[in-house]
Amino acid sequence: MYKINENYLKLPGSYLFATTGRKIREFIEANPDKKVISLGIGDVTLPLAPVVIDTLHSAVDEMGKAETFKGYAPDLGYEFLRQAIVDNDYKARGADISIDEVFVSDGAKSDSGNIGDIFDADNKIAVCDPVYPVYVDTNAMAGRTGVYLEEQQKWSNVVYMPCTAATDFAPEIPKEEPDIIYLCFPNNPTGSTIKKEELQAWVDYALKIGAVIIYDAAYEAYISEGDVPHTIFECEGAKACAIELKSFSKNAGFTGTRLGYAVVPKELKCNGVSLNSLWARRHGTKFNGAPYIIQRAGAAVYTPEGKKQTLNQVNYYMNNAKIIREGLAEAGYIVSGGVNAPYIWLQTPDKMTSWEFFDYLLEKANVAGTPGSGFGPSGEGYFRLTAFGSYENTLEAVERIRKM
Ligand SMILES: *Cc1c(COP(=O)(O)O)cnc(C)c1O
Repeated sequence: MYKINENYLKLPGSYLFATTGRKIREFIEANPDKKVISLGIGDVTLPLAPVVIDTLHSAVDEMGKAETFKGYAPDLGYEFLRQAIVDNDYKARGADISIDEVFVSDGAKSDSGNIGDIFDADNKIAVCDPVYPVYVDTNAMAGRTGVYLEEQQKWSNVVYMPCTAATDFAPEIPKEEPDIIYLCFPNNPTGSTIKKEELQAWVDYALKIGAVIIYDAAYEAYISEGDVPHTIFECEGAKACAIELKSFSKNAGFTGTRLGYAVVPKELKCNGVSLNSLWARRHGTKFNGAPYIIQRAGAAVYTPEGKKQTLNQVNYYMNNAKIIREGLAEAGYIVSGGVNAPYIWLQTPDKMTSWEFFDYLLEKANVAGTPGSGFGPSGEGYFRLTAFGSYENTLEAVERIRKM
């Protein structure tokens, strides 16, 4: 008789987007005359940049000719893409990463879930609270998180690092020592960032206690302030304690096209064993590469036109972020984020819970967002709005919120 992975049974239901979706549908059915604007989605809306589309077309044509047809991609990804990544995302930032430290993948969600394969079940993870749920749930599936404590909405064997107004939405060094530390900056859901010296303190801490940092830099392209690090490898010593995950989803709109990469430095070793070679083994065994046409499209993002066109998209979203942030602040809300990230994090007014504010906003302004408590217990009393809507809808949504 076979047995299932019972860790899956310990997972609490993922109610957040199922519940917001249901509530929005029910509201629309009951109020067919009202136009609901969603600022809840964590997905891009602008179409792919023209140079990306042109490159996709020509790469498809290559696949149709015997002389240029491509089969399986190289294990780590095509060199033309890995070289562009190294030159633009690392060398240009003073970070010395070589191309055999870059592993092209189908996105940062897969990588952040799969990276756990190379770590023992007996590791204690630390996460920010609130947090992108993938880090915790994938560790729960691997049996690393203990039991779920319904009452506290926490796992018994996870170190939670509260990120609230009291900590300026940044994690503090935890009292209990973790083995694997997940950090994501610019942050989803809070939109916060930390300065380079603050990230350096995390690197120093990880080196001191022998922990590894999994650094999710999916929103790097949204950084607008000068002292915010673009990669953890700007920090001294990071190559001996950190893995970085990147994505083409938020900077270039590849959410439906799928492309990302992980950087696992060769210096990163556990008792003399190189994590780079473990990840190479895992990648080569369980993954057969992102499609050639998509890797070509990804390389197009690094061309001069690609940079210009994708920057225009990021600027479009960041203009929305500014409209939301400034509009809500003028209306008396306490808001953060939206400066180096496409997310605005606001404190619910009048001590409303996150879900009460969700209902209130939907009823009164016909605007949908995401309750902060859905991202973790320290998200209670907060609410996330995203800048990924259209300019027109964003303006109207803010106008309606102001009139509430
Ligand atoms: C959107 C997002 C990603 C990107 O995931 P992909 O699988 O590359 O689309 C990664 N991390 C966070 C925190 C995100 O919000």
